Amino acid sequence: MNPPSGRTCHLAVIAMVDCIFCKIIEGKIPSTKIFEDDHSIAIFDINPIAKGHTLFISKKHYSDLLEVPPEKLASILTNLPRVVAAILKATGAEGFNIIQNNKRCAGQLIPHLHFHIIPRKTGDKVHFNWQPLPADKDEMTALASKVKQSLSL
Ligand code: AMP
Ligand code: ZN
Repeated sequence: MNPPSGRTCHLAVIAMVDCIFCKIIEGKIPSTKIFEDDHSIAIFDINPIAKGHTLFISKKHYSDLLEVPPEKLASILTNLPRVVAAILKATGAEGFNIIQNNKRCAGQLIPHLHFHIIPRKTGDKVHFNWQPLPADKDEMTALASKVKQSLSL
């Protein structure tokens, strides 16, 4: 939750009280938990798009990736690869996707930081609706300089 002051803080507290993942972390609603450390838990998704579809969730309530203080991110994610490896072993999957939605426009339904682990097998029926188009080179160059300018602020 960031920053801890005034109206923003008040709204963040309301968000936490209503948050399904905070309730799961507090044990107030049930889940199929497969992992826990000091910073994260992993639970099976109740509406999986593949066998073993897992949610890797920060224990602290951050609404999305940009709310996490960068120095905290490493500890939140430390055990993600270990959990992925265990899921692959248990499901016999050959690969995986990590998907992390931020904000409603990007498909985020639960505004509490989480990473989807999607186990994958050759020929499986999991599809993401990407429709790639060749980049416009001038547009790309202009955008790159805009981003770099913003990063150096
Ligand atoms: P997102 O759209 O990235 O916010 O993903 C939220 C995910 O949480 C969805 O895939 C839901 O199926 C899943 N979900 C919602 N409620 C629960 C719950 N109580 N236990 C486990 N997964 C849940
Ligand atoms: Zn929460």
